[in-house]
Amino acid sequence: MDQAYSNELRSDTASILIPLIAGATTLATLLAAIADQSFFTSWHFWLSVVLSLVSGGVGRYFLRQDRATLGTVIFTAVHLLIFALLLYRNWVPGSMIPYLFAILIIASSMFTQPDYGFITWGAATVLTTLALTQHTDGLIDLVQSLAGPVVVNLFVATAAYFSALEWQVAVESVSALHIKAQHRRDELFAIQEELHLTNARLHSTNEELDKARATAVAERDLRTRFMNQVSHELRTPINTIVNFAHILSQGEIGSVNERQVDYLSRIERSGWHSMSVLNDLLDLAQMNAGEFRLKRQLVDLKAVCEEATASTRSLLQNPDIKLVRDYPTVWPKIMVDPKRFQQALLNLLSNAAKYTDAGQITLRVRTHQHTATFAVEDTGIGIPEEHFETIFQEFRQLDETTARQRIGTGLGLPISRHLVERHGGTLTVSSVLGKGSTFTITLPLAEVEGSNGAATPATRPAKPVAPERPF
Ligand code: ADP
Repeated sequence: MDQAYSNELRSDTASILIPLIAGATTLATLLAAIADQSFFTSWHFWLSVVLSLVSGGVGRYFLRQDRATLGTVIFTAVHLLIFALLLYRNWVPGSMIPYLFAILIIASSMFTQPDYGFITWGAATVLTTLALTQHTDGLIDLVQSLAGPVVVNLFVATAAYFSALEWQVAVESVSALHIKAQHRRDELFAIQEELHLTNARLHSTNEELDKARATAVAERDLRTRFMNQVSHELRTPINTIVNFAHILSQGEIGSVNERQVDYLSRIERSGWHSMSVLNDLLDLAQMNAGEFRLKRQLVDLKAVCEEATASTRSLLQNPDIKLVRDYPTVWPKIMVDPKRFQQALLNLLSNAAKYTDAGQITLRVRTHQHTATFAVEDTGIGIPEEHFETIFQEFRQLDETTARQRIGTGLGLPISRHLVERHGGTLTVSSVLGKGSTFTITLPLAEVEGSNGAATPATRPAKPVAPERPF
């Protein structure tokens, strides 16, 4: 247990008791000295006055020097001698002087250690014995005179010992609590400091994040503007190329031979493909800029599906691939933007056509309690499960050689998913590698009451479809 706190309190007690005892002794002996007319008989009083004052001063001096034990021991020893001198000079039977030692016994156990009271008692007993030897006749007389004060003083020493001990234990446990509280406070300060630091760090991270966000938004806007501009600039010349190639290949301007027709058709198909890529880029730019608008209405879904499958037929890799339409008897009622919905459906069907070399492609439409599903199933190359999400990211195409051999931009699926989600639906995939894939559009059914579509007009036509076989 840490004793520093109790030592400090002892020293405080000593600094109060020393002047008190010294003052009382000085006053008493001074009065006695003054009362005694002859210096010859009162010299010991004068000496006591001087010794008491000096020892009081020395005691206080050492206390201030943080050497409390030395100071209190000197003070106690000198006062023991003063009391012994008074006893020696002034004892008469029944005198109270031997009992005065009790004051020093109590004081020493209070301002040094609890057991110092016994040492003081021992010293007091020896000194009393020496002093009384001069005044008593024989051993019996001496013992009779000593017995009272020695026993009383011993009792006082014992009582002082126990109360000082109790006091010490109490003080030390308070001091332990005090130290604990100090540690807790230090810990709290450290936590508070750490909190300040973390707050400051958080603040600067937030600022950095804000800056990064602002930069990202600015970059995205710039990219969107750039893509919009480039797409618009390119659409006009491509349109011209495609149209003129088509007119030329039809022989409307003049006769063209078979080879020329073949070349013109290739130009036309390339033009259509470029146009489709451009349209995808434009869609993406609009989606990123949040400028994408839908014109939703109740439409003839069967007509939309028929048109999409008809366009897909011309894209098939192999004319033997069966294109199956599995329609419900009662068609669901859904609020869709017909062009955008057809664009999403066509993306899925054209992908199925692109990645299927044999077997069949099925468009399965089903109505459920609150939703309708449009599943495009194929028996194509399939997709590894770990790519089920990546294929929906912009510009992501799978690395397989087979997939790479087929022309694409990696934009069809992200655009389709965005279109479907804007309709309040989902686009999911399931696939077995080498066996085939199923892409499913799920859309909420239209509520019979209060179904009013957004009145904003569609900004541009859906993805154009190559008129003949794919490039
Ligand atoms: P792409 O223009 O390359 O077809 P998409 O976004 O439409 O871009 O598709 C992304 C990738 O997903 C494709 O490159 C392809 O690897 C894979 N994928 C899409 N549909 C199918 C499918 N039906 N069968 C196999 N792989 C597919």
